[in-house]
Amino acid sequence: MEVRVVDKTDVTARLIIEDVDVPFMNALRRIMLVEVPSMVIDEIVVLENSSILHDEIMAHRLGLVPLKTDLDSYNLPEECPCKSEFGCNLCRVTLTLDVEATDSVRTVYSGDLVPSNPDIIPVSEKIPLVKLAPSQRVRLEAYARLGKGIEHAKWQPVSGCVYKYFPKIKINQQACDACGKCVEICSKRVLTNVGKKVEIRNITGCTLCQDCVDACAKDPTAIEASWDQDAFILDVESSGGLPVERILLEAVKILDGKAENFLKLLMEKK
Ligand SMILES: [Zn+2]
Repeated sequence: MEVRVVDKTDVTARLIIEDVDVPFMNALRRIMLVEVPSMVIDEIVVLENSSILHDEIMAHRLGLVPLKTDLDSYNLPEECPCKSEFGCNLCRVTLTLDVEATDSVRTVYSGDLVPSNPDIIPVSEKIPLVKLAPSQRVRLEAYARLGKGIEHAKWQPVSGCVYKYFPKIKINQQACDACGKCVEICSKRVLTNVGKKVEIRNITGCTLCQDCVDACAKDPTAIEASWDQDAFILDVESSGGLPVERILLEAVKILDGKAENFLKLLMEKK
């Protein structure tokens, strides 16, 4: 297996993975989506809410605020030694919200949440939660915990996680008269005209739509767009709670654990 990192920021990564197959890529993708834990608000206790939003809607909105996740300091509630349904300092973080609009309309943002652990903060301070009219007030306690996307999509640590086959474009320079129709029609600008030749300038952008092949008026054999069966382009975008490489590493660890467990069960049956 070969892995190349083509592009990486704190929240996004594009990898080219070679010598693997679809089941492997899909296992990795699905584990990233639903099995790598992240921390979000799961329960709230409303002490006062005179805003126009119902408590339930407020709870839903708060649940969708991505929080910075610390996988090393917190346990999943089901794995925490406290075994308490109320949680403990190792499996739960409390955030409080107390905002009142005095003489003008005020928007309550995610940044108004005050966490008990200063490291567990909303990824963005500018997520609007509710608008308060003068004299309205919201006062509540919110409890965040680690969870998995398999339980509820709000725990998914990724906002995007997709792969595609690595595209292969062949230009038969003998048959091609460089009319440029394929260059013109490609919405991803994969091809370019260089002098009297058509060349590939951005192969990873290709979506295999075949528009270039259909547009080629000269000779159907002049251009061929296909894909490599054993190579994939993986794009991952974190919701911001965890760095993208940590999500990938956790997913690989989980996949490894599953294979180990399978092997152990097989050995027991021998
Ligand atoms: Zn606990």
